[in-house]
Amino acid sequence: MLVSQVNYEQILSAGEHELVSEEACAAYLFALKWPHGFVCPECRHCKAYTIATRRLPLFECVKCSFQASLTSGTIMERSRTPLVKWFAAIRFMSSMDNGISALALSRELRLTYKTAWTMLHRIRTAMASEELDFPLEGEVAIHNDTYASPWYHGSLSPHPRESRVIVGATLSKAGEPERVTIQLVAREHWNSWRFNRSAIRHFMETRMDWKARLVYSPINFYASPRHKKRLSVMKDAARWLNNTFHGIGKKYLQSYLLEFCCRVNLSLAGRPAFHTISQICTDSRTVA
Ligand SMILES: [Zn+2]
Repeated sequence: MLVSQVNYEQILSAGEHELVSEEACAAYLFALKWPHGFVCPECRHCKAYTIATRRLPLFECVKCSFQASLTSGTIMERSRTPLVKWFAAIRFMSSMDNGISALALSRELRLTYKTAWTMLHRIRTAMASEELDFPLEGEVAIHNDTYASPWYHGSLSPHPRESRVIVGATLSKAGEPERVTIQLVAREHWNSWRFNRSAIRHFMETRMDWKARLVYSPINFYASPRHKKRLSVMKDAARWLNNTFHGIGKKYLQSYLLEFCCRVNLSLAGRPAFHTISQICTDSRTVA
């Protein structure tokens, strides 16, 4: 059977709540992977036969007989977990309120804790990689902030539990944040409340486009409302980390912070979170 003419627009615009069967999820994954129709990964030919004898269909190129799997190059590659559960996990991760912990996901989708943890880790890694692929552009304001779990009232002397971060934001003409990022700063790059110049330089090199410009932006208790939104990013992230996961250790903190920024940035850009995160998770350039 030849891959029939699929109505991609219809599939991609279908609500995420319609993804309730393996067939619907396979059609959605196909449309994410090949939004302009099948393309053979080997020879770029665009016609294929469907081999439907497996759990998920395979696509055999009419010209070179290469068999392309639906999940290769995606976060679902080599996973035996049904697609329905994968897309449900992405739906939880795209929820602006909380994201989800592995324990809650394992209960919600009846998975082992290990499977749930691995799924969320793969989704988070793809989201973090997408964030790092797009450095901040335009006029960028930065400030320092801290994270600790459980929370404590900061003092001038560094607390062993605390992590220091640089929060950066591309500002609109009105001074509102358009995109944000949070970078964990290594212990050797800060003293008391101040970062060394090396920390700022590292931030500029890794998180800012070479054409972007660092601008002075006041940070104090009486900051105007348009600044408060930017200044509260790390507080919101810390609340999320401590409420949803009861705190995150230093090993994984950076990728959780980028997961948080990914959701914030999709919301700031007015992009649909579920669909965009599904795209990120099925793009072989993001999924290393
Ligand atoms: Zn081919």
